Formats: sequence, C-alpha cells, structure tokens
Amino acid sequence: MSDLTEFIAGLPKAELHVHHVGSASPRIVAELAARHPDSPVPKDPEEVAAFFTFRDFAHFVEVYIAVVSLIKDAEDVRLLTYEVARDMARQNIRYAELTVTPHTSVMRGIPDVAFMEAIEDARTGAERDLGVVLRWCFDIPGELGLPAAEETARLACDLRPDGLVAFGLGGPEIGWPRPQFKPYFDRAIAEGLHSVPHAGETTGPQTIWDALRELRAERVGHGTSAVRDPELLAYLAEHRIPLEVCPTSNVATRAVPSLEEHPLRQMVDAGVLVTINSDDPPMFGTDLNTEYGVAARLLGLDAAGVAALAKNAVDVSFMDAAGKARLAAEIDAHLATWPG
Ligand SMILES: [Zn+2]
Repeated sequence: MSDLTEFIAGLPKAELHVHHVGSASPRIVAELAARHPDSPVPKDPEEVAAFFTFRDFAHFVEVYIAVVSLIKDAEDVRLLTYEVARDMARQNIRYAELTVTPHTSVMRGIPDVAFMEAIEDARTGAERDLGVVLRWCFDIPGELGLPAAEETARLACDLRPDGLVAFGLGGPEIGWPRPQFKPYFDRAIAEGLHSVPHAGETTGPQTIWDALRELRAERVGHGTSAVRDPELLAYLAEHRIPLEVCPTSNVATRAVPSLEEHPLRQMVDAGVLVTINSDDPPMFGTDLNTEYGVAARLLGLDAAGVAALAKNAVDVSFMDAAGKARLAAEIDAHLATWPG
C-alpha cells in the first residue's frame, strides 16, 4: 500500500453520488440470493464476484437487472441498505447521500409504505451501529418517462421519509430531454428537496444547461461534457455549482475514453468545484477509496490536496452546519496525524 493509498483509506469521507442497488457488493448479492433460492443468480460469493467482473456496459446492465430481480420484499430492501452502509463503514465513509429509485421496487410489488419503513430502519440502524449517516436522494428512472416521474414525485412528497433530502433524475440521457421533467422537480423543490439531476454524462453541455435552467440543479451528476463549453464552466464556477465526478464509471459507460483522458483536471483548472464519487462501485469494479486514488493521480495531489477534495464533498453536501463542521474537523485531524 502506498502512503497515499493508506492516507485515503483512513480518511473520513462523504459520498454524494452513489446508487442504492448499484452499491450491492458480491457479498450482499450472495446474501440476497440465499433468501431467494429459486433465483438464477449465483449464491456462492466467489461465483457472484466472477459474475460481477466488469466486462462492458451491456454486461453491467445485465448484472444490475439481476440484482434488481433479487429485491422482492421489504426485508430485502432493509438488508441491502444496511449492508451497503457496512461496506461504506469499511472505507471510512461517514456520510452518504444514497440515490434510491423507489419506483422500481414499488412497481415490482413492494408496498410503498413498507419500502420507506425498510430504508428508514436501515438508516437509523446504520447510524447507531456503524456510525454511517445516510440520507436519500429519490431519483426518477428517466427511461420510464413521465409516469415514473409522477410516481417518484408522489413517493417523495407524499410519503417523505425523514432521511430524504434530494430529488434526482437518472437513466439514459439520449432521447429523454431534461426539460420535460420540470414540473416534477418544481413540486419536489417546493417541498424543500434539493435538485440533483444527472446531466451531461452521455450528451453535450446543452443537457447541463437544461438541468440548471429547467430543473434548477444545485449539483450536477457527472457533467463530464461541461468541459466542451467554456461559458458553462465559467457559470458553474461563478455560481459554485459542483459536479459529482465518478471517474471509473465515466470510463465504464464510455462517457470518456480512458482515465488518462478524463476531464477532471480541466474542470478544476476552470475553477469548478468537484466532488469525487463511485456511482455503482462494485459493478464498475471500484470503490470510493479507489476513486480518490484516481483523482489524486489525475490532479497530482498530495495528502493535503486529497483532504481538500474530501472537504469539498462535506461542504456541498446537504448535511446541517454542525454535521459539516464535525466531519471537516475529522478530516483535519486525520491530515494532522500524517507525516509531512
Ligand atoms: Zn449515477
């Protein structure tokens, strides 16, 4: 382990762009599969790990759908959520805004109220037992169109669980222009939720402008294509609208051709506030610590630089001021123990 790898592993972190189902590790999937012996998903953790090995985007979708098919009842939801927090605790992630797609589970027959109780039970348990604070971002599965948007807004606004802080939009961007989702974001924002749509991952800067102007994005998921528009970069920098950057995911989905060609450096050089995230970590063969290592390499950071990057995520999270101050102080304390 290099010194910086060790520093990152021990660094207290916040993660702002990570998906609920997409965080199911082979260990968790094996546990879910054991609860449903009739499912075709392998039950042995090593076989699950082999099944999970990232090959290409089509295979990732296959893995994702296989995991979704294992989430059949509220206990599966609770187990998945709590165990995701356990994997976070092992990486010293202290706070995460987990993107949850409740519509997918409700559509598959889990009663909405039971779904909310399951995630909330996991959230309070994770905070009590593991010291991991979870908050929710409910996102619209964009590929299911406006009925899914309507239903996600209903679940967020009418059943609003205590941990819910934000409203998002995922799924493919091509063929699903952002402006059509405006009424649902308006409703969620009126209810006090923060707007954090994905934009500009597989489409150009116009999608990011749409997310800012139509959906009133406070942070942008990915936003990799922003670097193609200097005016947009200047706008993001001036208004301190952060990009949630997920380097390995961007390569896996071919949003960028390779890690070496990732535009993270251009974003930072333009003065844009960036946060480092893992998106769907086990499915892309990564975790948050690995992503910080990638960012450190791309940006040429030392321990102090990595700590500053970690503080960005704390700063632009939706934690309260006391929570932010506490986690920032923990980061400072970790840096202070570091030689040099
Ligand atoms: Zn995402």
